[in-house]
Amino acid sequence: MENVDRITSEKRIQTVLPGGTIGVLGGGQLGRMMALAGRVMGYRFVTLDPTPDSPCGQVCDKQVVAGYGDEAAAREFAALSDVITYEFENVNAQVAAVLERESKVPQGSELLRTTQHRLREKRALEAAGAMVAPYRSVATLSELREGVQQLGTPCVLKTATGGYDGKGQAVLRSATDLSDAFTSLGAGSVELVLEQFVDFEREISVVAARGMDGQVRTFPPAENVHVRGILHTSTVRLAEESELSLRAQRLAGTIAEALHVVGLIAVEMFVARDGTLYVNELAPRPHNSGHYTMDACSVSQFEQHLRAVCGLPLAEPRLLSPVVMVNVLGEHMEPLMQWLSSGGERRLPEGMNFKLHLYGKAEAKPGRKMGHINLLTDDVGRAHEWIAACGIWS
Ligand code: AMP
Repeated sequence: MENVDRITSEKRIQTVLPGGTIGVLGGGQLGRMMALAGRVMGYRFVTLDPTPDSPCGQVCDKQVVAGYGDEAAAREFAALSDVITYEFENVNAQVAAVLERESKVPQGSELLRTTQHRLREKRALEAAGAMVAPYRSVATLSELREGVQQLGTPCVLKTATGGYDGKGQAVLRSATDLSDAFTSLGAGSVELVLEQFVDFEREISVVAARGMDGQVRTFPPAENVHVRGILHTSTVRLAEESELSLRAQRLAGTIAEALHVVGLIAVEMFVARDGTLYVNELAPRPHNSGHYTMDACSVSQFEQHLRAVCGLPLAEPRLLSPVVMVNVLGEHMEPLMQWLSSGGERRLPEGMNFKLHLYGKAEAKPGRKMGHINLLTDDVGRAHEWIAACGIWS
């Protein structure tokens, strides 16, 4: 496949046209949904992942089965790929360098470096003009005591690296018992960040895309509910052309520009009771809270991401229907299958469209993300009532 180089005012755009091969580093569900979206556009796919028959590998032309730190395998993967994208943040820096040298990685490794570390991320956000909850870097127990005194309780202690789905953090409710939290998070051996607790009214997230030519497009904000630290539902209402929605999308767009993103960046935010937006976290990739776009928007986050990394123009995201996305974790698989086999879909509330996405994972462990369901409906309140009452998520 011949690829096309164009020069624009900003930089050389190396377009990878349909027919070309996209390499996906990481074989999880995000890579799988990217490959499914890109196949429709005529791209071919290869993935690198240590687990054979990975969710992404199942829908790719080829999977290189190897660890993420295996440089020889990274070279083989690069040779097969016209362009490479990653579906998770914790990419080994050495391997990223090999990939950049031997193939194209439009997302680069700088953004990974920033988002792999909460302190670096917060500084980059502040430099972009975004608000973050007041924070302190904490290395010792006395620094923790001092930090808690300055920020007040409650506050949240987090590891600077490696945390996800609410892991690697502890809420401190009083100035006593700090040493337990300090020890449990790896005292002394890992960097920690102490954050003021934001008394938020709700949590939202915006997925923003930026193309190689600097064009930025944002998706409408999703309102997110977490259960035990893991995303449970994301809700998008049609009335979201509100001032808050526009402000949140503008903020995400500004961050995408400031961080020179190519591809997607998901911006998780707290909406404080006075309407202030505090950015909690960034993810430089498609995001669980953006899965609603697959059925409810004119373009999905996955297609938009591929457009960006292949140097194609971005699509204009439009919300086509209000939607509630609900995650299916390991413990929900059995009741979901029972519900499906007993004809549950026939008993759905009228006007509610049920779109099932499963990721092809063999083992349904508790807490493991196995799939999600997009409920398209004019009445998102009713969709939430149905989720609470249907027995799959109880
Ligand atoms: P994180 O891993 O940073 O995304 O945090 C996981 C969840 O913990 C968030 O989605 C919030 O519900 C809660 N959380 C984290 N940091 C704070 C904070 N500073 N104030 C209030 N809630 C927080």
